[in-house]
Amino acid sequence: MKAAQGHLNDVIRFSAVDGPGNRFVVFLQGCNFNCIACHNPYTINDCDSCGVCVEPCPEMALWFDGHHRVVVDDDVCTQCDICIQVCPRDSTPLSQMIRLDSLTRQIDEVSPFISGITVSGGEPTLQADFVTSLFSAIKCDGKLSRLTTFVDSNGHAGRDVWDRLLPVMDGAMIDLKALDPDTHREMTGSGNELVLETIRYLAEWDRLYEVRLLMVPGKNDSPEAVAATARWLYDVDPAMRVKLIGFRQHGVRPQFADIPEADPDHMAELADILRTTGFADLLVV
Ligand code: SF4
Ligand code: SF4
Repeated sequence: MKAAQGHLNDVIRFSAVDGPGNRFVVFLQGCNFNCIACHNPYTINDCDSCGVCVEPCPEMALWFDGHHRVVVDDDVCTQCDICIQVCPRDSTPLSQMIRLDSLTRQIDEVSPFISGITVSGGEPTLQADFVTSLFSAIKCDGKLSRLTTFVDSNGHAGRDVWDRLLPVMDGAMIDLKALDPDTHREMTGSGNELVLETIRYLAEWDRLYEVRLLMVPGKNDSPEAVAATARWLYDVDPAMRVKLIGFRQHGVRPQFADIPEADPDHMAELADILRTTGFADLLVV
């Protein structure tokens, strides 16, 4: 199914950390997880125009339109983020619907300088029709077709979603928060059955670019848990690229401020477990 509009949070025109090479990154609004370690919590929910953020805006850039929706004056907004900080709903008044042709025009402007595009979030598979339409438009455009198309996902999507994306998607980065379903539920609010299925399925189709393991101290970073995860992933694909990421507090919601940051020595120990399991393509950040 085609979708001519997507719900956009933001774009970054050049990124070196969202997949291979230099990439244009599209952040879509809305997520089906509620991760304790989320660094962009304002991407989780849609704005319900409650109005809490209108008064605190120091530039008076926010107001109610004729349909009682909170809207922003882009010419006045200074991107100070105060509206995001006061929002009780993990949302933002700055997200917007964007037309497919408007987005491809922005990509076209920087296309000589990028190697591909990545759609992130939020959770991009929630807008799979729009992502499919965007990737299809890129693959069908003579000038843009050399760009690779990647998704950065929490993996919580069924085969029907991946089957729509696979014909136009070159690769995916998938987060695995925990192999243990109870730990996964504690960290994300959801079970991990679909995530594990996604990793297996994309590996079968040779579209699993990378699995990301975010280590959150005291939650999922015991040597035993990482060893079990490593064995499971190795069974899926011994040549898999794994990125081990240490938790940092930046951007995390105040109610999770007591979670400590990852200790570098402990991260080195966990990296050794992955290396010993047999992963050669291992990145630690
Ligand atoms: S961004 Fe948050 S605080 Fe502002 S109107 Fe929307 S839901 Fe309310
Ligand atoms: S980021 Fe939000 S609070 Fe800051 S100026 Fe823009 S609309 Fe106002």
